[in-house]
Amino acid sequence: MRLSPIFRTLFYSVSNLGRFRAPTSTHFATLRPLPLRSMSGIPFIGALFGSSSSKSSSNMTYPDQRTDDEWRAVLNKEQFRVLRKQGTEAPGSGTFDKHYPSEGVYTCAGCAAPLYKANHKFKSGCGWPAYFDSIPGAVTRHEDRTLGMLRTEIVCSNCGGHLGHVFKGEGFDTPTDERHCVNSVSLNFSADDKPVAKESKA
Ligand SMILES: [Zn+2]
Repeated sequence: MRLSPIFRTLFYSVSNLGRFRAPTSTHFATLRPLPLRSMSGIPFIGALFGSSSSKSSSNMTYPDQRTDDEWRAVLNKEQFRVLRKQGTEAPGSGTFDKHYPSEGVYTCAGCAAPLYKANHKFKSGCGWPAYFDSIPGAVTRHEDRTLGMLRTEIVCSNCGGHLGHVFKGEGFDTPTDERHCVNSVSLNFSADDKPVAKESKA
């Protein structure tokens, strides 16, 4: 579905919900911080190996345990808002929205873990970078039940940084019929098509 600029701006207020659902007040959900960190102190090892499981966000911890203050020291304001406070960038505004390299790797803008390969990316027209799959284990899903709706939030498995949401069954002609709707702000890109282990702190 192609959206005119004006409609797309309006659509932003219901962004990330999915292309075919009725407008609601989901915009506020994207601004609401989620309790990503657990107090248990037990690293969630499974997050490193399973990319398709849905977990509650209430008891997750990640290998990279930096505090908000530590993140503020290495992220710019917008990166901190999106990655650490579940923010959403304006549609069509992101560096990687219309970025279609033939090879390369998109890494986490927070911890540099490799997340998506160039050949996972597809044109969705939704205004954010869209991927039909991730590097195995790189992305962790959890249920986002804010405002009484069920969405699937995706975060970096290494640092818990907010990437966006994943939507299923929209009818895109991709191998998975899934759309990882990711904020460009949450990503960096490396033209070197080798997700090297040294970049992952896992
Ligand atoms: Zn990360």
